[in-house]
Amino acid sequence: FTILGIESSCDDTAAAVVHIPGKGSAQILASVVYGQDGLHAPFGGVVPEIAARAHAEKLDICVAEALAQSGKTLGQMDAIAVTAGPGLIGGVLSGVMCAKGLAAGSGLPLVGVNHLAGHALTPSLTDQLDYPYLMLLVSGGHCQFLIVHGAEEFTRLGGTIDDAPGEAFDKTARILGLGQPGGPAVEREAQAGDAARFALPRPLLDRPGCDMSFSGLKTAVLRARDHLIAEQGGLTRQDRADLCAGFQAAVCDVLTEKTRRALAIYMEEQPTKPALAVAGGVAANQAIRAGLETVSTEFEARFTAPPLALCTDNAAMIAYAGAERFAAGHLDDMTLAARPRWPLDRSSPAMLGSGK
Ligand code: ATP
Ligand code: FE
Repeated sequence: FTILGIESSCDDTAAAVVHIPGKGSAQILASVVYGQDGLHAPFGGVVPEIAARAHAEKLDICVAEALAQSGKTLGQMDAIAVTAGPGLIGGVLSGVMCAKGLAAGSGLPLVGVNHLAGHALTPSLTDQLDYPYLMLLVSGGHCQFLIVHGAEEFTRLGGTIDDAPGEAFDKTARILGLGQPGGPAVEREAQAGDAARFALPRPLLDRPGCDMSFSGLKTAVLRARDHLIAEQGGLTRQDRADLCAGFQAAVCDVLTEKTRRALAIYMEEQPTKPALAVAGGVAANQAIRAGLETVSTEFEARFTAPPLALCTDNAAMIAYAGAERFAAGHLDDMTLAARPRWPLDRSSPAMLGSGK
């Protein structure tokens, strides 16, 4: 079957058409993403009201473009999947209202999707990955280890107790006067940097388990910057590069070491050959991908990292997660609500969604 996906939970307006020829396979027929970086740049971060208005303006165009690129009409879809949370509520509402309008007009079934489930299932868009697998979901607002037992069944093993790494990348970029989004900017600068010059912390590495912390790291970057300013009046290009390299290495060390622990826990519970997958915007980082691949090799685990464009927000992942819900008969109706918070763990009743 064929699904239209809609995503608007943060600062990307996206629509996609995904065809599911059979179980365990997927074809992306179209995936359109309108970023909003230019709109938020003057404010140094995403402004929710501006994001919501931009989503409302762009959603219709985005959907029309995705359908046109896919060569299909709305009437040829089998369902409409939309991110119903978690995220900035104004944006999520814009998407849900757009999807409801399309569903009402076409008579197509409506499927509400958890944005995090979208990220966690992304590997299946390009790889034939069997359940269960261990997922490191590492994005702008989240960082957690999940055992993905099935399309709607997740166990959380641990995660950040404060900031997400994406947020830390963005804040570090802001501290160093680099553009937003911070991840790609910091990664670019880090290439010319010496990671060993500044001693930055690796929070919580001394504690057992796979919880993580990243807020102290950005504070350490801030202190190092202020120290340089006090000493020499400003930062050279090399200072910036070294701080970026040091920051990225610290994030990478924490993620790889905690992945070792998560894999060890996972392998105690799952006797099958282990598989590790990564998703979310920070998974676009080459150093982090390489670090995780090394850990997988140590554990003789299969490693999957989606193409960069599918790591950051997109609607193909929402269409795919929606297809899985649709196949399971979990449909929504016009009462589908937009949720600012929606944890992704089977121990949480919220995960059941409004699906009937
Ligand atoms: P969430 O999915 O948690 O709601 P989000 O949707 O805003 O948050 P994503 O779109 O998945 O997050 O990821 C965006 C984040 O990824 C940003 O914080 C951005 O800086 C970061 N990011 C993007 N590319 C890179 C990169 N190459 N290296 C590190 N971080 C990156
Ligand atoms: Fe996201």
